[in-house]
Formats: sequence, C-alpha cells, structure tokens
Amino acid sequence: MSEDRLMVSVSGVRGMIGGTLTPRVACDFGCAFAKLLGAGKTVVLGRDTRPSGPMVRNAVTSGLLSGGVNVVDLGVVTTPGVALMTRLLAADGGVIITASHNPPAYNGIKFLQPSGTGLTAATAAHLKQIWSDGPYDLVGVDELGEATVNRDTHDEHVSAVCNVTDVATIADQRFRVVVDSINGAGCAVTPMLMDSLGVDLVHLNGLPDGRFAHEPEPIQPNLTSLCQAVRDNQAHVGFAQDPDADRLVVVDEQGNFIGEEYTLALAAAFVLRSRKGKLATNLATSRMIDDLAAAAGVEVVRAPTGEANVVEAMQREGCIFGGEGNGGVIDPRVVPVRDSLAGMAMILQYLAETGKPLSELAAAIPAYVMLKTKLPCPAAAAATVAARAREMFANEGGARFNTDDGLRVDLPGGWVSVRASNTEPIMRIMAEAQDRDAAEALVRRVRKIADEVIGKDARA
Ligand code: MG
Repeated sequence: MSEDRLMVSVSGVRGMIGGTLTPRVACDFGCAFAKLLGAGKTVVLGRDTRPSGPMVRNAVTSGLLSGGVNVVDLGVVTTPGVALMTRLLAADGGVIITASHNPPAYNGIKFLQPSGTGLTAATAAHLKQIWSDGPYDLVGVDELGEATVNRDTHDEHVSAVCNVTDVATIADQRFRVVVDSINGAGCAVTPMLMDSLGVDLVHLNGLPDGRFAHEPEPIQPNLTSLCQAVRDNQAHVGFAQDPDADRLVVVDEQGNFIGEEYTLALAAAFVLRSRKGKLATNLATSRMIDDLAAAAGVEVVRAPTGEANVVEAMQREGCIFGGEGNGGVIDPRVVPVRDSLAGMAMILQYLAETGKPLSELAAAIPAYVMLKTKLPCPAAAAATVAARAREMFANEGGARFNTDDGLRVDLPGGWVSVRASNTEPIMRIMAEAQDRDAAEALVRRVRKIADEVIGKDARA
C-alpha cells in the first residue's frame, strides 16, 4: 500500500495515520456501529501494538459510548483473541483495531459478529451506508454506554487452544521453537502458549511496541532472520506471525522457509490423521489440500476469496477445518477465524505424533508451482475473459468449473483462475500445476484471451 486512500470494505476500514484515518473517521465508525447494533448493546474491543492504537481506540470508543453501546476494552490482543472474547462474553459485536501486515503508518478498524466472525457483506454494506449517510443516534446522559476493562483474553485463548491439543504428547518432546512475533499482538500470548506446551521458546521481535523489526508481512524475503535463528538454535521448527497474529508461516528444522501455502496443508494433513470431515478454503489456495482430502476420502469446499467467505462456507457445510493459503488456519473448535496459535499447536502435535522432522512431513505432500499474475483492465473485461475461458476449457476432459468469484478451472494436472480485483481496475490470473512450464502454459492460454478482450475494449 503506497498511497493513502481510506478503504472501506467488507473487511472494515483502513487508512493512514495523519492522513485519511482521522479521529473523526474512527469516531464516526464507532457511532455508526452503535447505530447498527442499537443502544444498550455491548461490544468487546481490542487492538494490536501499533503506536496509533490508543488514539484510534479512544475515538472508536467515544463513538460507541455516545450511541449507548457498552465497550469492554481487551487491551493489546490478537485478532483471533478478540473473536474468541466476543463469543465467550456473549457480546453483541466485536471491534479490532489493526492494519494486519501493513506498515506502521496504517491502522484499521474491523467489525465482528457475535460469533467472532467478520460482518457479512450485506451487514458491512449496511454499516458503510449508516456511516456515510448520518445522522447517528446519539443518546442522552442516562443512556450513555459504559466503558469497562477485561484482561482475560490471553488466558482464555491459551486454554481454548490447549483444550483441543494433546499437551502432554507435545511437552514430552521438549521441542525448541523459534517464533518471530514481529513486535505485534502475538508477543505476549505466544510465550504463554509455548510455556503451556513445554516448549523451549526462542522469541524474536517479542517486544510488543509496534515498531516492526522488519517488513511485517510473513513472506519469505522478510523472514531471513527467522531462518537463521532456527539454524543457530538447532530448533525443531520456526514460526512467523503477522502483527495481529492471525496468519502463520512455518520454517523447517533446516532453516528453510517452506512456503506460506504449506501452513494450511500441514495443518490439514494433521487434522485428517484423526478426524474425517469436510474442509474449506478459498479459490486461490493451492490444491495440495485437495490431494490430502482425496487421500482421506473427504471433500474440499471452495469459497470466494475473503476470510468471511471461507468461514461462512465452513458453517454452512459443517466443515471440521479450513483456512487460506496465505498462512491462515481456522479450527472452529477454538475460534471461527484464522488463528496462528491454533496453527502452531497443530503443527507441534503433528511433529510430536509422527516423530518426523518438519522437512519430511512437508516433502510428503505433493508439491506444485503456483503463478500469480495481474494486468490492468476495465472492470467489465474480467467477466468476458472468464466466460470465454470457460468455453475454451469446456471440451477438455475432467475440467471442473467454479464461477463463485470469477472463474476457476480445475483440470487433472492443475488449475487456472481469472477474477477482477474488488479494489483496483485489475484482473488477476493465477495457475498452479506440477511444474513451472505447465503452470505457465495455463496462464498463457487465459492471458491470450485477456489480451484479445482488453485489446478490443481499448479500441472500442
Ligand atoms: Mg493479519
């Protein structure tokens, strides 16, 4: 994100401090959420470690209180922690102040349903309408909301994870684990979990001051110090969280970054050892999970991109597990959102139960090459490209189509997808196959259609 534009989307509000994310905007969204819920309701509110957190929290809280909504301040907590407490305290909604993996200059406000899941698209659109239309429903002095504090989130989160984990089997192994918490919301709770699991923790960037020691997105170029620390400490595994600790990526015992897609695949492989049931993920996630599911005789439900869509699919289809290929693991028994703590416990239990090193567990999962490309295009062009690509692939043996979000074509040897971005005039073409040549060939076939369609549009 390089420019400062206030983004108001299904996933909430995001903008730059000193720019578009002003105290007024934050307060107005507090007022709007209060109007959506109604006076007398209660929300829980947490924030990550960003230096702007107290400012945004105070503004949002003012708006909520002025609309007659009670606010339970959870303090600095993870995104899955807020989701968990929304449900545990039977609140009417939740608010998370975080900009996830974006740089420190940004912050954001995310709104949750009572279940802990993000708002549905329809409710998010309603909230945006209330916010932009005004006026808000401000209450009189007798009806103002009450502000209270609750500091139980970390304890409750560790308990919820340990309740579904074989703690003794993990503790027996006396694992040494390196975790990079990137000075974020995971800094306090992660050592508590590792302590409960009997793990010898080497904690990198564990000071929760929001001054991120490296680029905060948990992707390979940003994790060289973690890989080195795994080697230096002869650790069994390395984990990296993002600043709100919902995403998790894994480094093997040799200090190799094994790819963010592997977090979900390894966790799925672990889950399917002992439990059989449907899994869910989004349309952009690797088909490694399909191979694991096929071997176990279970189905994978594919949802449109966006965490809320995956969670909705999990609830609708009764899935036992789900997540996203960007390092998002969802165990609905803990909390119905991506949770790095649940993910770490699963992978440690997988290591403990099998007695195998992580590199071997990862190598046992059939590998693919995924390519992601994007090209500028008029908004309507992606639908035309998708329709024509569908015609092109219709005659190929074994082709399966998903049109919930653009087009994804699954073929025996790989898949290719095309969709319009929700936020920019861009078309994304992705493909995955057993080798790079095959993946490139899939991209090329759709790209050829795109060039024809966009060329035509440009001439029109
Ligand atoms: Mg995040």
